Amino acid sequence: MPCVGRFAPSPTGLLHAGSVVAALASWLDARARSGRWLVRIEDVDTPRCSAGAEAGILRQLAALHLHPDEPPVRQSTRSHHYGAALDRLVRAGRAYPCGCTRGEIERRLAATGRQASRHAEKVYPGTCRAGLQGRLPRAWRLRTDGNDGLPVVVEWTDRHLGPQRQNVTQAVGDFVLRRADGLWAYQLAVVVDDADQGITDIVRGEDLADNTARQILLQRALGAGTPRYLHVPLVRASDGEKLSKQHGAEPVDLSQPLVALDTAARHLGLDGVPSGPAPTLDAALARWVRQWAARHPV
Ligand code: GLU
Repeated sequence: MPCVGRFAPSPTGLLHAGSVVAALASWLDARARSGRWLVRIEDVDTPRCSAGAEAGILRQLAALHLHPDEPPVRQSTRSHHYGAALDRLVRAGRAYPCGCTRGEIERRLAATGRQASRHAEKVYPGTCRAGLQGRLPRAWRLRTDGNDGLPVVVEWTDRHLGPQRQNVTQAVGDFVLRRADGLWAYQLAVVVDDADQGITDIVRGEDLADNTARQILLQRALGAGTPRYLHVPLVRASDGEKLSKQHGAEPVDLSQPLVALDTAARHLGLDGVPSGPAPTLDAALARWVRQWAARHPV
């Protein structure tokens, strides 16, 4: 099967050293297998998006010579696809409306003595699984118990992290597909888009590894195939925190594209640009493609 990879930035700001690592790794992986590489602008979480970020990111990618094979797709144009997927899940009895407020979920968890999970989103106690009990629907959730009510354990092998396993029922619980504010949740949008775009290989930062089991569960619920996954190590700030826009990471310096790529390539364990006359960007990229192919066989 031909390889199709993608880079899926959220336009919340310009690319920083961490996002360049994800962009370069996904590009190298696709190119190393003569595959296609797509860019998807993940702008479903509109309150977090910033004006001009999308155009800025595309300019940065062009300056780095990471050229997508098709015009970028924007999630904000794909609501009807997410709606159709949610309808299918509801009809199949896999998704249900939830009328709980955040406060109610917290009170219910406290009352049952369950600890808050390590996830930002607490494990939903399943209050509305059996029906709304007269309340108005707010969000929509995916059932994460099997047909027989048993916990669902998802296993997969990450090309970098090795064998992975998550009990989704216990670790995450019935997770949100459409938020109470009407916005589509990242999990649903990403799974629908990866399936529709025929993505075979997902290469992204390790901070997203924790989402993979949920996404595999959704793929199964929607009858979509599961791509291969490779999660690359995060770039950390000097205090050990993940480099992020929220953490004040600087946008990459476009006046020095080779330096930005070289830093990202070294982070990925590839050889840096050799000393001597600087190669062209394309020559440096071609060398990293060969190294990547040798180090990341499928
Ligand atoms: N849009 C996500 C982010 O910028 C990436 C999603 C993904 O690669 O699955 O963190």
